[in-house]
Amino acid sequence: MNSRILLVEDEPGLVLTLSDLLESEGYEVDTATDGPKGLAKGLDNRYDLIILDVMLPGKNGFDVCRDLRQNGRDTAILMLTAKTQVMDKVVGLKLGADDYLTKPFDPSELLARVEALLRRVSKENLISVTRFEFANVSVNFDKAEVLKDGHPVSLAGKELQLLRYLVDHRGKVISREELLKNVWEYQCDTSTRTVDVHVAWLRQKLEEQPQFPRHILTVRGSGYRFSP
Ligand code: CA
Repeated sequence: MNSRILLVEDEPGLVLTLSDLLESEGYEVDTATDGPKGLAKGLDNRYDLIILDVMLPGKNGFDVCRDLRQNGRDTAILMLTAKTQVMDKVVGLKLGADDYLTKPFDPSELLARVEALLRRVSKENLISVTRFEFANVSVNFDKAEVLKDGHPVSLAGKELQLLRYLVDHRGKVISREELLKNVWEYQCDTSTRTVDVHVAWLRQKLEEQPQFPRHILTVRGSGYRFSP
């Protein structure tokens, strides 16, 4: 499947050149020409990478980056900084950008960065594990064995499947619908409430303080995120 890239850039010439360049490499490219549109697209769609210019009308790239992260979006972000000041780079990385490129840049340099970031993302996405440890919990999915502080914890089948899905997609925001589809496979009499109840049970069994979870996190308005 082709990687999807969102290009947020206001300079028409650059939008055209970069879109052509990326499409010729087989990427699927979507574009936005100001900050608010870029943010809206980044929130509503799943991209593999966002190329984000800093100087944008409406809302600058730093603010777009920060808002995406604050809303739980962990899409890889490559920032395009117009200035050469170190300051810009530091601010961008602090706000959650993954890499930056200073304008003007060589197209081959951009492609190299894009490839490197996408490689990193797909590697993170593909790690399905049979054994996993976080905090004082250790899980062996093959043996359906869960230990907390070395003591066995009993998980029902769906709880274990839910935990496995969360672990396999760790760090990513997962919607209730995604969980219903992939863990419950749309069985009848399931609803997003089913998901919430199972999440609460998992927290009860695995979190140190279930009312203040540190690993099975709620992302307001979006779903859940597992943070090891
Ligand atoms: Ca610009």
